[in-house]
Amino acid sequence: MIESEINKRYCQSCGMPLRFDVEKYLGTNSDGSRSDEYCYYCLKDGKYIVDIPMSEMITD
Ligand SMILES: [Zn+2]
Repeated sequence: MIESEINKRYCQSCGMPLRFDVEKYLGTNSDGSRSDEYCYYCLKDGKYIVDIPMSEMITD
C-alpha cells in the first residue's frame, strides 16, 4: 500500500509535510474549515502566521 504517498503535500509557507490523517496539523480557514495548503503553524482562522521581524511588529 502506498496510500501515504497519494496525499503527500507540503505547506505552501514553511514546507512542512501536511498530514491529512491528523486534522489538527492542518491550518484553519476563517470559516473553520481545514486548509489543504497550509499547516496549523502558518494559517490560523484564515490568518497567515508568518515570521514577522520584531521591527515590523512594533511599527504602527
Ligand atoms: Zn506551514
